[in-house]
Amino acid sequence: MPLGILVPVLYLDHAATTPLRPEAAAAMAPFLGGEFGNPSGMHAVARRAKNAIEDARDRVAGVLGARALDVVFTGAGTESDNLAVAGVALAEGRRGGVVTTATEHEAVLATARHLERLGCPLTVVPVDGHGVVDPARVAAAVDAGTAVVSVMAANNETGAVQPVAAIAAALAGRGVPVHSDAVQAAVSRPCSLDDLGVDLLTLSAHKLGGPQGVGILAMRPGITLAPVIHGGGQELGRRSGTHNVAGIVGAAAALEAAVTDRKRLIDDVGAARHRFEVDLTRAVPDVVFTIAGADRLVQHSHWRIPGIDAETLLVRLDGIGLAASAGSACHSGAIAASHVLAAMGLAPADAAGCVRFTFGWDTRPEDGTTAAGLVAAAVGGLR
Ligand code: PLP
Repeated sequence: MPLGILVPVLYLDHAATTPLRPEAAAAMAPFLGGEFGNPSGMHAVARRAKNAIEDARDRVAGVLGARALDVVFTGAGTESDNLAVAGVALAEGRRGGVVTTATEHEAVLATARHLERLGCPLTVVPVDGHGVVDPARVAAAVDAGTAVVSVMAANNETGAVQPVAAIAAALAGRGVPVHSDAVQAAVSRPCSLDDLGVDLLTLSAHKLGGPQGVGILAMRPGITLAPVIHGGGQELGRRSGTHNVAGIVGAAAALEAAVTDRKRLIDDVGAARHRFEVDLTRAVPDVVFTIAGADRLVQHSHWRIPGIDAETLLVRLDGIGLAASAGSACHSGAIAASHVLAAMGLAPADAAGCVRFTFGWDTRPEDGTTAAGLVAAAVGGLR
């Protein structure tokens, strides 16, 4: 997408964050201007803000197949993951362990490790070479001490899709709530509570064309949560803190737009990725696609070119106007070793070469060919 910043930028880092969809921007505009109320107040200004939030909650609940009162707005996908895992594991009368997988986002894994230090047992189920977990192994890891199971719908680095519905089916009747982080999957896959068969579901607005700083946690009726943020008791005591009204309104508009626009996105993004992978293979025949042939999200392309380090290539690409990343683990601008690729059994040297291109709602089919041309030019300069 040409953003007109110094050089035309082809933005292929939608898994990191997405540009704001116009529907979200339009819905947010009044709440960034004249409408400024605190929804917890007692007067008309506050009531208008409260009404906007409750309207957003109704709409999110409708998309995700939840009751409005079972939708919690948080400050990030990270916070929703924390609230789902710690909130269930530490809930009154339930306190117990966590079963999760080796390739979860750190928002889940670090929470589970923190709970382990508090005395909640942790089981991390391994994945296969495509990063996919076996539902039978997850079910076998659950015992009477398990409070919650958390398995992501799709991986943020590789796009590998997990068999979440099969895991939920294998655990049916065991009385253990299943949580899924659908932050990346919801862009291109149906991700309601029923679609995934889960009890708790995390989404993040800024991965769907909404604003940064808004997370969603949707739940089945009857799930009780211990809050992770304590204070004024907003969100029925489940998440204190004054609401981000503009952000929440934008999140609901983005989610609805993403669902309405999903088929078109899959077509355009699918065409762009196909062209990218075919054209790149033609130009650089030794390119290796990490999980080609596996069930993967249509918007992800994860690859490496033997002998070329990802950081060096990404700097080159940045210099010629292509924005992408090496995966999720980008701390203070430096690329850290990926626990996802390690869990899949990639050698450290191969993992250090992996690049992630993620297409999104503003991708045009022809962007794939442009991207392949830019990578070929960058590789030519490095070899
Ligand atoms: N879960 C997954 C799978 C993600 O990709 C991300 C963000 O990269 C998160 C959770 C965290 O979401 P947020 O950036 O809203 O905190």
